[in-house]
Amino acid sequence: MSNESAFDAASAVIPGGVNSPVRAFRSVGGAPRFLVSGHGPYVVDVEGREYVDLVCSWGPLLLGHAHPQVLDAVHQAVSRGLSFGASTPSETELAETVIARLAPRTAAPIVEQLRLVSTGTEATMTAIRLARGVTGRPLVVKFAGHYHGHSDGLLADAGSGLATLALPASAGVPAEIAAQTLVLPYNDRAAVEAAFAQFGPRIAAIIVEAAAANMGVVAPAPGFNAFLAQTAHAAGALLIVDEVLTGFRVSPAGWLGLEPVEADIVTFGKVIGGGMPLAALGARRSIMEHLAPVGPVYQAGTLSGNPVAVAAGIATLAAADAAVYARVDEVAATIAEATSTALRDAGVSHAVSRAGSLFSIQFQATLAHDYVGVQRQEAFRYGPFFHAMLDAGVLLPPSPYEAWFVSAAHDDDALNRVLDALPAATRAASAAQP
Ligand SMILES: *Cc1c(COP(=O)(O)O)cnc(C)c1O
Repeated sequence: MSNESAFDAASAVIPGGVNSPVRAFRSVGGAPRFLVSGHGPYVVDVEGREYVDLVCSWGPLLLGHAHPQVLDAVHQAVSRGLSFGASTPSETELAETVIARLAPRTAAPIVEQLRLVSTGTEATMTAIRLARGVTGRPLVVKFAGHYHGHSDGLLADAGSGLATLALPASAGVPAEIAAQTLVLPYNDRAAVEAAFAQFGPRIAAIIVEAAAANMGVVAPAPGFNAFLAQTAHAAGALLIVDEVLTGFRVSPAGWLGLEPVEADIVTFGKVIGGGMPLAALGARRSIMEHLAPVGPVYQAGTLSGNPVAVAAGIATLAAADAAVYARVDEVAATIAEATSTALRDAGVSHAVSRAGSLFSIQFQATLAHDYVGVQRQEAFRYGPFFHAMLDAGVLLPPSPYEAWFVSAAHDDDALNRVLDALPAATRAASAAQP
């Protein structure tokens, strides 16, 4: 089987041949690679070709593919049964682990209780319902270019004015639902102040990626997250910090471990499940006790806290020690610097955008700090760059608007394969035509 024939077969029975649009190669062209296995820093496609993986399942695989301790925990859990629809002691263990990792870096504890769900989308959707239930208010502030999953109210685009209610960002989202969201430019304090001046008493929450990494990586400006906490709290609203992508990836306590912020609700996903469908939201007890069955905010899930997923999460966090974070930081820095050097040698204008161990390349000389800015880059250079890397056995995210993900399993052999691929790929980027 070739990747092309696998894609043709998939396209006949699956819309676009993919079960999540980011997997399609729409912005780089060609057939997506159909993968059959992964080990450490590598994945193998249906043609038997091996690639250094810089997608890492879009974040969960902090330890790399098929980590022995994680597989062992999963095998053991599987042998005890796949799902019970009842509580299991391991859910408590995972909640305790997360709470311990988030232990007070700010004046008051941020996470005293945790609710496990299956996807990041569910975690943020529930966080918003919870914020509305706690405050009795309808509106939510989000930032352009930030992704919080695909629930209706979070698929919203900025309206025409600065502080106007949002428009649907997807067909199928009713205008009335999008209008419950305000979409503001990221890192723009004046826009946040204007929105609160106009709508403050009706705003339930601000939701923000702890560090933006779904429009490429865009770090929060120094003090911006703290400013959001202050602004929300002064208006009686909550701050939801979305750590689905950054959580347990950029540090043992996620972004909040690098930058303590007075978050009210924190959402987790990706690394917390180590590659299995698992996500969570956490907050102070006084907030979490608004959730059913204690409080009036309804939330449920047949497979929530699934024992196999929880086993993978516990094993992943147990293995993610200081050495893992140090290696991930080192791998990220090495690849980011080598890519920048190669691009400079090839005469390509670019800026490296970094937030902790997350990074991406902007094809423009000056680093942009919001969505309008990142879209000004010469995105046409990415397709030829991506394909030259792919030909050399390196799998990058198939879009310039995604973070590059590394793992602690990326050893020096894998790093050297990436570094060896860069000169030809950066020449391809240099030769690219709009
Ligand atoms: C991936 C992601 C989500 C959605 O998680 P899913 O598990 O894909 O539903 C939400 N927020 C952020 C910041 C993400 O990166």
